[in-house]
Amino acid sequence: MAKLLEYNATLIKRVDITPKLAIFRVKPDDGVPGEGAWFTPGQYMVIGLNNEKQPELGRVQRPMSIASEPEQRDFIDFYIRYVDHPESDNPLTHLLWDIQEGARMYARVRPTGKFTIKDTMGEDDPRVRIYLAAGTGLAPFLSIVESQYRNDPDVDLSNTVMIHGASYSADLGYRERMLELAEKTGMKYLPTVSRTHIDTGWKGASGRAEDWFKAERLGELERLIGLPEGGLHPGAAQVLICGLQGTIGMTVQRLLPRGFIPDNRKIRRALDIPEKLHPDVYYEAYDTTPPIDLDDAPLVASLKNDLAAGLAYRERMAAQSAS
Ligand SMILES: Cc1cc2nc3c(=O)[nH]c(=O)nc-3n(C[C@H](O)[C@H](O)[C@H](O)COP(=O)(O)OP(=O)(O)OC[C@H]3O[C@@H](n4cnc5c(N)ncnc54)[C@H](O)[C@@H]3O)c2cc1C
Repeated sequence: MAKLLEYNATLIKRVDITPKLAIFRVKPDDGVPGEGAWFTPGQYMVIGLNNEKQPELGRVQRPMSIASEPEQRDFIDFYIRYVDHPESDNPLTHLLWDIQEGARMYARVRPTGKFTIKDTMGEDDPRVRIYLAAGTGLAPFLSIVESQYRNDPDVDLSNTVMIHGASYSADLGYRERMLELAEKTGMKYLPTVSRTHIDTGWKGASGRAEDWFKAERLGELERLIGLPEGGLHPGAAQVLICGLQGTIGMTVQRLLPRGFIPDNRKIRRALDIPEKLHPDVYYEAYDTTPPIDLDDAPLVASLKNDLAAGLAYRERMAAQSAS
């Protein structure tokens, strides 16, 4: 018999945004460690369940970004999607969808991860911060901006851009809250919906989150986020991406012609990016599939060309702002 998890937490609230998207609010029996802020926004935790219906499948644990802010010590929120086509035979999301408020579960109350402002963009960096989230990839960014707002209700987030992509407008979780924060802090919130041919009532931006970086849409993006035409380059902005491999790969690729340097070691090596070039694009991936197929020689060759053009662009912009 497989080893079981010892439950140490309770699901105190569950908000179903759609049948496949929910916020799970969890309260650990022993509370959270320390005093005050107890983790760094952007970090994740491991949560788990035992399979009660099929005990022979045992336990399952998965990492989940913490959606609530670290100043919140009474509970921990997770923003989770039910995965239709899981890889394992004991998917956590299927077990989570079977539990209701009051259920017991496991939470490893030991937040981990370096997808934080401190470990990526740098806390004092004055450049525009672009957060690009696909679906539940919003979670780490929620934690980041909620924490900033909680620490200072007058905080100026006008240099923060929150791009949130979803298939349907109903899947844009936390939309009301994002609109509210945008109004209160000056944060630029850019929700976008990809299946507008079905979601015909949606009147906002159409396309996937990463489509904001298509060459033909950069001008519109720059206007919306307050940059001059052609002004989206690493001298002016940095980008954090969270979600699945497709979103990450396309964003990294589309930013290369503007000179944005990815943080990922393998991508840097494949594109011969010099060590001395500091990254401006960071990501957290939900899956293990590489965001760019680095064995695809023609693709890598074309990305190297984009990068060369991007580095020239970057230098031109730096020279322009220095003159
Ligand atoms: C650092 C980190 C943070 C994460 N944070 C979150 C989070 O905040 N919310 C969240 O819902 N998930 C998050 N995940 C994904 C999560 O850990 C699981 O992979 C996911 O819940 C599926 O687990 P499962 O056991 O149900 O499916 P498994 O049997 O483990 O199947 C895994 C498969 O599911 C796919 N998958 C994972 N997430 C999605 C998704 N959202 N949509 C479609 N396919 C998906 C993967 O590509 C993979 O192929 C995070 C993953 C990592 C590594």
